[in-house]
Amino acid sequence: MKKREFLKVFGVGTIGAIALSSITWGCGGTEHKKGLKNWAWIHPLESSDPSHSADEWKKLLTNLKRWGIDSALLLTQNSSIISQVLPIAKQVGVELHAWIIALNWPDKTTMKEHPSWYVVNGKGESSVDKPAYVDDYNWLCPSNPEVVEFMKKRVLELCTIDGLAGVHLDYIRYPDVVLAPAHKSKYNIPQDDFVHPASDYCYCEVCRSQFKKLSGVDPVTMSDQATNQAWLNFRYDSVTNLVNELYDTAHKSGKVLSAAVFPTPYLSKFRVRQDWVKWKLDYVMTMIYHSYEGKPVEWIETATREGVEALSGKFPYYSGLHLAQLTPKELGLATKLSLKAGADGFVVFPGNKMSEEYWKYIEMGIS
Ligand SMILES: [Zn+2]
Repeated sequence: MKKREFLKVFGVGTIGAIALSSITWGCGGTEHKKGLKNWAWIHPLESSDPSHSADEWKKLLTNLKRWGIDSALLLTQNSSIISQVLPIAKQVGVELHAWIIALNWPDKTTMKEHPSWYVVNGKGESSVDKPAYVDDYNWLCPSNPEVVEFMKKRVLELCTIDGLAGVHLDYIRYPDVVLAPAHKSKYNIPQDDFVHPASDYCYCEVCRSQFKKLSGVDPVTMSDQATNQAWLNFRYDSVTNLVNELYDTAHKSGKVLSAAVFPTPYLSKFRVRQDWVKWKLDYVMTMIYHSYEGKPVEWIETATREGVEALSGKFPYYSGLHLAQLTPKELGLATKLSLKAGADGFVVFPGNKMSEEYWKYIEMGIS
């Protein structure tokens, strides 16, 4: 499976302090209820012709603005694309953030020069040589101080771009430990909810020595690797510490930091070791892609409430809604249920697929 297809299948696609967000809320062109803010995860355009693409960007962003979207999360780390889109976004009144794939880093040069930066599973296999699930599931280890510096550099480069509002982290997690029901059946793996060594990360030298320093135990020698609470906490904290460093990096440059995360606090920890309620963020976007979990549309309300209640207002919460899983009418219901459950707004994926029809039902839901 190619990266792009995989991103689609896995629903990637999704975004920074309460004080900052209260300034930006309500500054958009579309009238919202007080405090409400809506977002779109958008992909770069297919066209490589700059003169054509300027017109296409204007059309997309103008439409999004008309459809109640205040901020766009643009999937690129390419400063020339960002520089092209920024003035257009400013002109139409859409705030722009750079959306980046954080730790899934199938870069051949990095793998060759720094194989020790990559995660190792419970069988001792590196994700460089034996990636889980798909060929490019090569993941950086968040515990490694050199990876932390590398990630800070990536974020800092984006933070030097004038006019960019912030950086949005996606794939800021471990590789999937336990896949959601809709994904599990696609792979030749045990179809249960247990943690198996082949998808249990990370047992790299850095993780082993850091955990041994903390607990006195080398995790490879433990008989309860899958359930040991201290070892689980170490992995949650490893991602949390990285996010917190990146938050400080962004804020020192006057930018905000946000992240795309799994649907609920429980599922995020269980599936990918994200303990996002503890993170330092300006905004969080949950990917509440109900079909992947085998749930009905109504589950969006339950999942949103779990997240909102766990956060207790620590930072704004946006329900991420997958257009491919929702008819226009269902999207209207999903936005309504998200707001009822206490979300500060919603984020649609992919924003490039938004339409007048979808907006008609959203408007009915939120008016
Ligand atoms: Zn590691």
